[in-house]
Amino acid sequence: MHLCPCGFFNHPEKECICGSGVVQKYLSKISGPLLDRIDLHVEVTPVNFNELTSAFETEKSATIRERVIKARAIQDTRFSTSQNLYYNAQMSPNMVRTVCKINDAGQGLIKKAMEKLGLSARAYDRILKVSRTIADLAESKDIKLEHLAEAIHYRSLDRDSWSG
Ligand SMILES: [Zn+2]
Repeated sequence: MHLCPCGFFNHPEKECICGSGVVQKYLSKISGPLLDRIDLHVEVTPVNFNELTSAFETEKSATIRERVIKARAIQDTRFSTSQNLYYNAQMSPNMVRTVCKINDAGQGLIKKAMEKLGLSARAYDRILKVSRTIADLAESKDIKLEHLAEAIHYRSLDRDSWSG
C-alpha cells in the first residue's frame, strides 16, 4: 500500500505533497483491528537502478531456506502433542503465555513499546509470537531481547505518531 494519497511519503528522492494531517487521516482509514491481524509491517522505500544491479553480496536463498526448514522442525517438535497446531502464528493467547516466556528485561522492553506505540492486547500477542519465530530462526531456545526488539519493529503502522 501507499502511505499517503500522493504516494511519495518517505520517498528517498521525491517530495510528498501531502500535509502531515492528510497522511495521518489516510493511514487512519486502515482500522487498528485490521492492522492487529497483520504480523509484519515493513516499510519499503523505492530502490533505484544502481542499487538493483549492484554486486553487493546478499545471503543466498538456499541458506535462508535451510534456516526456515530448521525453524519449522523446531515448531513441529513444539506442537507435536497439540492438535491442529502446526506453527507459532496459530497459538491461542493461553498458549502464547506458556510458550513465549520472556525475562524481566524483555517484559520491560515490551511494556515500554506498548505504552509508546499505543499497542493493543492483540498486537502484544503478535509481538510475542513473531519474536518466538525470530528466536526459532536463530535456533535460540529463549526469546532474547534482540528477538523482541525485531518483532516490535514490525509493528510500525501501529504507531500513533506515525507521520509526526
Ligand atoms: Zn504524499
